[in-house]
Amino acid sequence: MKTINDFNFKDKKALVRVDFNVPLDDQFNVTDNTRIVAVKPTVDKILNDGGSVILMTHLGRPKGEFKDEFSLKHIVEEISNVFGQEVKLVEDCIGEKAEQAAKELKPGEILLLANVRFHNEEENGDEAFAEKLSKLGDAYVNDAFGTAHRAHASTAVIAKFFPETKFFGLLMAKELQAIDKVLKSGEKPITAILGGSKVSTKITIIENILPAVDNLIIGGGMAFTFIKALGGKIGNSLVEEDKIPLALEILGKAKEHKVKVYLPSDAIIAESFSNDVESKEADIYAIPEGWMGLDAGHKSRDLFNDVLLNSRTILWNGPIGVFELSNFAGGTVALGDSIAEATRLGAFSLVGGGDSVAFVKQFGYADKVSYVSTGGGAMLESLEGLELPGVAAINN
Ligand code: AMP
Repeated sequence: MKTINDFNFKDKKALVRVDFNVPLDDQFNVTDNTRIVAVKPTVDKILNDGGSVILMTHLGRPKGEFKDEFSLKHIVEEISNVFGQEVKLVEDCIGEKAEQAAKELKPGEILLLANVRFHNEEENGDEAFAEKLSKLGDAYVNDAFGTAHRAHASTAVIAKFFPETKFFGLLMAKELQAIDKVLKSGEKPITAILGGSKVSTKITIIENILPAVDNLIIGGGMAFTFIKALGGKIGNSLVEEDKIPLALEILGKAKEHKVKVYLPSDAIIAESFSNDVESKEADIYAIPEGWMGLDAGHKSRDLFNDVLLNSRTILWNGPIGVFELSNFAGGTVALGDSIAEATRLGAFSLVGGGDSVAFVKQFGYADKVSYVSTGGGAMLESLEGLELPGVAAINN
């Protein structure tokens, strides 16, 4: 893997694609700067070498035209704060003003180009546009893991204009190493926990990870399709009827790969998807009519805990209950505790994918696991075994 550590950036202008698509509140304040902080080691290395940094990012979905709400003026101050120095923002990402600003940039300085998605050519992967961007720097660095699954001009196409001087940033390297550490070189036993609402969105992941893992814990809404497939009575719980045969197929494949599958044995149930109704515990194979399972029960939590404390490598994607409702967050909290404890005992733990990442941040587990991915879609596609265009562009 060719990273920025393989190059000395002295007197070089590094064009660094980052993913600063950060959440903003209605006053346009950055509410979570994780993605900016995560890129600091890359920026520091280039500046310490005596180089300068030209940052490229998108923000939101402006769909090819300038829109004030997606202007990087809302985030440039936060970027300056994180990097501890003034970051200059240019009005456009290509054209005269961008060229002039790039030309005037001195070693040790940081420039931020305007939102690359103000041009349609970015998402279209337009080659001429990528070439214009490429003219601004001497080397190309991709540190935008969150956008690495897109074959856009600044995330992938641009790399061809830097055949000798294209590199992974340190965040990108960390993300890719974390995935490898689970799927390729993980210390055994390796346990994957998959939760979330639907089986259909996780099938490819399950199929891809079966050859790599020893244990597979299936929880959350998607577990009910498996329970029903096994003859359980699941009441009104979430189910994908058309995926029942597939659930059985997955269980069969798991057996072939000698993967132990752990399904919940009990559930916290309620009559509706709400915090304001009575809830109780039930055998997951015998949920009464009119009731639905919204969280893992205590026996299941204990079972998952035993499996996790005996694991050396852990991958977690998807909550195992409706954690957004406090009455049904207990199972996912218990799971977070188990993963934190396993990590404390020396296991490597990777948390990836939208909702579980939101959970670990909100419930204070981010520092208690080994690695929290900064990319939702990109992490899921990596777990599906796909080569991300942003990664391929640097590797090939
Ligand atoms: P996904 O986006 O597929 O990873 O699903 C995440 C969502 O699954 C979260 O919003 C959870 O509330 C939801 N979820 C977890 N467990 C259940 C359940 N038992 N029934 C319905 N939804 C669930």
